Amino acid sequence: DDKILEVKALQKHFSLERNQTLKAVNGISFDVKKGETFGLVGESGCGKSTAGRTIMGLYNRSGGEVLFKGQDVHKKTDKERHQFLRQMQMIFQDPYASLNPRSTVYEIIAEPLLVHEIYQSKKELSAKIYELLESVGLNRDHANRYPHEFSGGQRQRIGIARALALDPEFIICDEPISALDVSVQASVVKLLQRLQKEKGFTYLFIAHDLSMVKYISSRIAVMYLGKIVELTTSEQLYHNPLHPYTQALLSAIPIPDPDIEEARRRIILEGELPSPIDPPTGCVFHTRCAHACEACVTVEPTWREQEGEHFVACHLMDDSIEMGKPLRVQQEV
Ligand code: SF4
Ligand code: MG
Repeated sequence: DDKILEVKALQKHFSLERNQTLKAVNGISFDVKKGETFGLVGESGCGKSTAGRTIMGLYNRSGGEVLFKGQDVHKKTDKERHQFLRQMQMIFQDPYASLNPRSTVYEIIAEPLLVHEIYQSKKELSAKIYELLESVGLNRDHANRYPHEFSGGQRQRIGIARALALDPEFIICDEPISALDVSVQASVVKLLQRLQKEKGFTYLFIAHDLSMVKYISSRIAVMYLGKIVELTTSEQLYHNPLHPYTQALLSAIPIPDPDIEEARRRIILEGELPSPIDPPTGCVFHTRCAHACEACVTVEPTWREQEGEHFVACHLMDDSIEMGKPLRVQQEV
């Protein structure tokens, strides 16, 4: 079995004041194969970072399961999880916020190694830290400096070096490039790809749009308001998006191919992302979908497999649902 991670009907709800519940992650299922980059994409607020943290066991789940190499992440004792988590690491969106400003780069990278008591001698520890710095394109001269002395791209490299310190197999990259200048985004992605090739990492790559993810992922899940609405290969998602939300996300990114440009009109999503405290009934996307009809308001679409490992949750793909008159007049752009 080549699955390294299995996420099954995972839920993460937060209790708020006045008996309200924020359903950040509301029943998502997918699996990640060893060695692949799996993209998890959706607008900010759709629950993807919460999903990442719950998968890591940083948040307790509200329901469902997370199996890492067949073992339930959430059924471990704190001590077991501490050991277990060596194999799973996370790279964060804002490298500055995730690095202690009062620690040197050396101390930042040494921390996980010291916590896990991996090296017996100072000499071994230093050798490992210098090796890590070099593997991310930095060098030992950087070791005694502080995070503020580095550019955004370099800080993300420091964050990556720290994530690699424990020799993980699986890394959750939570928007690792969205806070960086466009000019350095590609170099950080190239670094992640090179490291994956060298060390055989598996990535769960979280992003708010498809522009980079579609190039680096083998498969992609599109998330909307705590749910996955479409899941398939990068190829299929790009050339044959079936869910209206995926179509809108794709239409928002510039494409170099003029033939596709022609066929794909810009779809402007109307309105804001609804609140996950009181999500829409039926299909969660119905308040913004140009195809929405009465059935979409009352009936939740079921998760269906189309041809070739292409999963989608939309009534348009379900012959048993009668699509009635559209709720809204479609806007031509
Ligand atoms: Fe749109 Fe209805 Fe499909 Fe939801 S189920 S995406 S509202 S057409
Ligand atoms: Mg986020």
